[in-house]
Formats: sequence, structure tokens, C-alpha cells
Amino acid sequence: MGDAGIVTGVAVAVVDGTIRDVGQRAALERAYSGATPIDCGGRVLVPGFVDSHTHAIFGKPRFEEQELRASGLDYMEIARRGGGIHASVRDLRRRDEDELLGLAVPRLRRLAASGVTTVEVKSGYGLTPDDEIKSLRVIRRIGEILPMRLVPTWLGAHEIPLEYRDLANGRSEYVRLLVSTMLPGVASEGLARFADVFCEPGVFTIDETRTILTAAKSAGLGLKLHADELRASGGAELAAEIGATSADHLAAISDAGIRVLAESNTVATLLPGTMMFLGKDRQAPARALVDAGAAVALATDFNPGTSPTTNFPLIMTLGVSQLRLSVAETMIASTVNGAAALSLADHVGQIAPGYSADLALFDAEDVRELPYWYGDRRCVATWVRGRACHTSTVDSL
Ligand SMILES: [Zn+2]
Repeated sequence: MGDAGIVTGVAVAVVDGTIRDVGQRAALERAYSGATPIDCGGRVLVPGFVDSHTHAIFGKPRFEEQELRASGLDYMEIARRGGGIHASVRDLRRRDEDELLGLAVPRLRRLAASGVTTVEVKSGYGLTPDDEIKSLRVIRRIGEILPMRLVPTWLGAHEIPLEYRDLANGRSEYVRLLVSTMLPGVASEGLARFADVFCEPGVFTIDETRTILTAAKSAGLGLKLHADELRASGGAELAAEIGATSADHLAAISDAGIRVLAESNTVATLLPGTMMFLGKDRQAPARALVDAGAAVALATDFNPGTSPTTNFPLIMTLGVSQLRLSVAETMIASTVNGAAALSLADHVGQIAPGYSADLALFDAEDVRELPYWYGDRRCVATWVRGRACHTSTVDSL
């Protein structure tokens, strides 16, 4: 992760949505004399960012919780007052597909405008078979509307819904619903590429997570976990054990968990925006993970409760300033490793021959400016499969 392979004075040749060639500009202009040129004006061109962890299908934002948190109320108290995840669940269940689509599209356009060309989107605010399928169908429709590359993840195991919490055998009943009803429905419609579970004490236990993800694996889905966010409970170890594509959050991962992830093919996806927004003084041990040899990815965790940002470069700022990654490591975490966290690394996340022409152009002269101008929006254009996805009003484009 220490070498992002930065080169200067080059051009990129794109044929049929795929990068054919990267080389000195004059030579490429001769070799592809019939091509349509786009002058990037000496700016920084990067692989389009891969945001491998979002909860972008939701109804109303939950801005009222920010002040409550600042005044000292904890998550349990906010939930008792009707906030938290269950507020988003109540809200989403009341909305139909068209309404959710209308809300999600502009939010994802904002993400694209920050340089993101591939985005993973989870369900998880439905928590009934119908409402989870509804959310996943919205994700599929977004993929038909926006040029961004969308990766759908089924997160029926985001939380135990309130109507099951009060039942005597509610937990096991809900796990049974997930495995016996929801998963077959999702799989038979081909609505998700991954299954994810919120594995955390008080939400889904290690054993429940193993049950759900083992069934998902049999149904042909890739696996993801929300793991070790608040407490080290063995989530990272479970991710490696069951061959998960990624283990996400990891702010409380143990030393043993770091070692196990480093020896596995599971990507460690870190979400520093969440910890910052919640006002936590702790961040995931990114340095220790990278130094141990783990593949670290960065993502926004875009969601209405704990990380309402669509600004991907801001996450890169946190990667350098809070996680203490180098700029090269941050770039790799935002592109190559983000793609690996979605099993797309063989054709997404690099500016190299054979890779999809997913590109983002920034109004900067040096790649180190991307995390430096923090909170700024300097992405002037993105392309997905060679097709313009987002273009700002910059004249030369
Ligand atoms: Zn999440």
C-alpha cells in the first residue's frame, strides 16, 4: 500500500469503456490519432473512488440526534426517545419504492460528484421480507438510472426489529425469518451480491452471525460483517474463518483480530467518518492493520444516523490525519482495496490496461492535495466505463 504508482505527463487511452493504454501523452496521441481527446489540463486524474460501505437507501435524515448526542445522551437513550436505527426502520416501511428512489438518486449523485464511481449500497432499514426486497429493488433501479457502478448488499441482519425484541423467542425467530424466508427471496430475485450482518454484542452474536452468513454463502452471496465496532467480540476472527470479503468498522479490533485479518484475504474496511461524527476519541488501528499486512479500505458509511456524508475526499483526510495513513496508503485504500472489498479488484480501482475506465479528475496539481483541502469539493469530473458520470461547470471540460 506504500506505492500508489503516481506518474506525470501521461495520457490514458480508453476504448469501449476499458483502459487500453497509459503512457506519455505525445506517444498516445500518435497511436490513437482518431480518438476524441479530453484535455485534463494538467490536473490530477485518479481511479474513481470505490465507496464499499454505505446505507444509502433511507427516508428522512436524523439530524435531531446530533444535538442530543452532543448534550450527552447515549445511543440507548436516543433510541428510547424514538430515534436511532428503529426510527429509520419505521420511516422506510411507510414509503414506497418510487419515493425511496426519488430520495436516493440525488444523494448518490452527490457521492458521484465527490469522485466516487463505484458504490456499495445496503438494505437494512426494512427488516421485513417485503421491506428488504423493496429496498433492494430500489438499489437495482438506481443502477439503471445512474451511470455509477452499484453493488447491492442485503443487510436484513442490521438489527433485531422491535416487534421481535419483545417476543420470548424473538431473537431466534428473527434469525429463522432471515435464513428461511428473507434470504431465499433475495437470492431468487438476484437482488444482492453480498450479505452483511451487524455482529456486535447486543445486536447479532457471533453464533447468529455465523448461522446467517453460512446460509448466505450457500445461497451464492459474498459475505461482509459489521465487526468489532464498539467492543472486540471476535467479529474479525469470524470474518476470516468464514471467508468474508470484508470486515468493516473494526474500531475495537483486538490484537489477535489484527493478526488473523492480516493473514487472511478479508479486507479491513475502516469508516473514520462515523467515529468522527459520533464524537468518539477512538479510531480503528489502521497503522497496526497496515503494518501487520492487512488490506485496508476506506469508506464513507453514508447513513442517516452515524455518518451522513457524501464527501469521499473528507474520508481520505481522516485517513491521513486520524488514521495516520500515508497519502499513498489512503489512495490505495480508496481505490484498489475498496474494489477488493467488493470482489471487483480484477477490473476496477486502477488506471491500468484492461481495467474499466472509471476515472475521477480533481482540480489539483498534486495528489497530496486531495486529503489536504479538507471538506472541499474539488472533483471536476468522473467517468464510469468511459462514460461521463459527473461533470462540474469547469470550462475546459
Ligand atoms: Zn454500516
